Amino acid sequence: MLYIGPHVSIAKDISLAPERAHELGATGFAIFTKNQRVWSASPLSEESISSFRNTIMRYGYTPRSILPHAGYLINPASPDKDLWEKSLGLFLDEAARTVSLSLDTINIHPGAYKEGSKEEGIKRSAAMMDEVLARTPGLRIAIENTAGAGTILGSSFEELDALLSAAKEKDRIGFTLDTAHLFGSGYDVASDPDGVLDAFASRFGSGKLYGMHLNDSKVPLGSRKDRHESIGKGLIGKDAFLAIVKRPDVQDIPLVLETIDESLWKDEVSLLLSAGSDS
Ligand SMILES: [Zn+2]
Ligand SMILES: [Zn+2]
Repeated sequence: MLYIGPHVSIAKDISLAPERAHELGATGFAIFTKNQRVWSASPLSEESISSFRNTIMRYGYTPRSILPHAGYLINPASPDKDLWEKSLGLFLDEAARTVSLSLDTINIHPGAYKEGSKEEGIKRSAAMMDEVLARTPGLRIAIENTAGAGTILGSSFEELDALLSAAKEKDRIGFTLDTAHLFGSGYDVASDPDGVLDAFASRFGSGKLYGMHLNDSKVPLGSRKDRHESIGKGLIGKDAFLAIVKRPDVQDIPLVLETIDESLWKDEVSLLLSAGSDS
């Protein structure tokens, strides 16, 4: 089954998110587990948690159709000890929220190493993944690939592999591939989406693709920039997305739209769902 839907707002209360996705015809969705712009937030209330769990059941969502996105303040590769510890604290909090909502996977950017060697940055990032997994039973981490600006890690399959290799909890770490980030980092998902995803599968084997972010791109192939566009309106183009949703390895994982025009989400969802269903 295809689990497709946008990253929806948790404004007012997180338990309103599933309904927002359902109204768009989505079969899956993404959320932040708290306001992603602040370091701390009050805990989720018992009422919000039980309402969220009930609503996802009511609309037929399963934990594997929902992919929470960790906040952008977290930098797992930070060379600054205090910032690394602060990031760990926030990541642990978001991991606990994810599990309390009965979800089992959280999406995270591997971080920027800022200074020193890339190898040390990879070690710090992997160490944080291990720490969070050790302290959060039942959780899996999906490391998101990046466009790779500056010292941001995770812009190649080699670097994703290095992050996985540096971690101890390898069975509970997989990846989210974001099409706009793939394109920005030089993987031509526009002209050869199957080739790119086959290369990922042959390196990592089956079961390591925990989710995808389906975004078109405003910026050219290999630009190292991250600028999302609506499906079919950017430089990747509609056909690539229609090909991706027909692949067996994208079944039963969340396929999240982080596209820029909310008014198009309903049409994007229905386009991709219908393309996938006639394969
Ligand atoms: Zn992301
Ligand atoms: Zn993304």
